[in-house]
Amino acid sequence: MARFYPLTVTDIQKTIRDAVVVSLSPDPKANFDFIQGQYLTFKKDFDGHEIRRSYSICSGLDDPVVKVGIKHVTDGAFSTWANSDLAVGDVLHAMPPQGRFFAPLDAEAENHYLEFAGGSGITPFLSIIRSTLAHEPRSRFTLLYANRRISSIMFREELEDLKNIYMDRLSVLHILEDDPQEIDLFSGRITSEKLDMVFANWISLPKIACAFICGPEPMMTLIAARLSHHGMPQEKIKYELFKSDQPGRLALKTKTNASDQKQATTRVTITIDGASSSFEMRRDQSILQAALEHNLDAPFSCQAGVCSTCLCKVVEGDIEMIANHALQGDEITKGYALSCQSYPLSDHLVIQYDQ
Ligand SMILES: Cc1cc2nc3c(=O)[nH]c(=O)nc-3n(C[C@H](O)[C@H](O)[C@H](O)COP(=O)(O)OP(=O)(O)OC[C@H]3O[C@@H](n4cnc5c(N)ncnc54)[C@H](O)[C@@H]3O)c2cc1C
Repeated sequence: MARFYPLTVTDIQKTIRDAVVVSLSPDPKANFDFIQGQYLTFKKDFDGHEIRRSYSICSGLDDPVVKVGIKHVTDGAFSTWANSDLAVGDVLHAMPPQGRFFAPLDAEAENHYLEFAGGSGITPFLSIIRSTLAHEPRSRFTLLYANRRISSIMFREELEDLKNIYMDRLSVLHILEDDPQEIDLFSGRITSEKLDMVFANWISLPKIACAFICGPEPMMTLIAARLSHHGMPQEKIKYELFKSDQPGRLALKTKTNASDQKQATTRVTITIDGASSSFEMRRDQSILQAALEHNLDAPFSCQAGVCSTCLCKVVEGDIEMIANHALQGDEITKGYALSCQSYPLSDHLVIQYDQ
């Protein structure tokens, strides 16, 4: 039978807008020793419905506290709760550390490790890098870390600090999907062509002791295939899949509550007078508020859903109009909305003010 141990939350820090780093203090009597790269499985009861979720430990072996990093997943039960309601002093229940996403430490080793992380997939790497660089004084790491944009890089400062401590033993290459970089190779998504260029010009695969991959499944599959294509044996490739189809999902809520709305964001493209702008907006903002915040010349007047000056058309995505004293049912069916009263429900929205 799985045993769960109480862990007291001693600190909660925001690492980026939609992720928290939770420090945990195990009962000193419990055996909570971990190996770098392992994870904890927590259980939590939501209205009589128990779910279990795993989170990789991001602290190093020598760190005084056990930490996990939890990225908010839209409509996700545990991650939403952890990002909005979890508080210092709360007690979480976790199974002892598990997992085999590590290479055994060897103080005599002189290894070059290669790591590929995507988004929250960085968490086990923080533990692996910290622990290995401290315990294998001649080993080094190259980390390729893929994210949407700079602001979504989890543990950016921690990685910078580690680079400063281990200048010649840790190199970090950021690949950003939406923010252009000086070198084209590091802009956009990871592709087979980019990986081939990296393996041709930057990293000599035959010299790599072990490659670790953790991130979204398609990214992991692609990287593993390219590593194999370039001759890396399977036994040198280690995977940790953050699969989201874990047992015990809760029924989806019909409407997100206020705290969910605060956490979630939507990528919106707004066209006014033939010019389009794209940006990330909060879901607790109306489309009009977001447009004005981004200095777009969106029309508006009453801001109470009465006058229809702020009329727009929802071309893609879903919105919720919280008040409407101006539009007829058939206009709404055609996608028209009052932007002062319309709040995003989907991850992606395309809005046109030009009718
Ligand atoms: C070994 C391991 C280590 C991990 N480490 C980390 C880590 O370090 N950091 C991290 O952030 N994550 C990590 N994860 C992922 C983490 O365990 C969770 O999967 C993640 O946080 C989402 O859980 P949740 O309860 O918030 O979402 P869930 O409630 O499981 O929802 C996930 C998705 O499914 C959708 N969904 C939910 N219920 C339904 C339904 N009834 N019908 C249809 N769709 C539904 C939701 O909209 C959401 O998009 C790890 C996973 C594993 C397996």
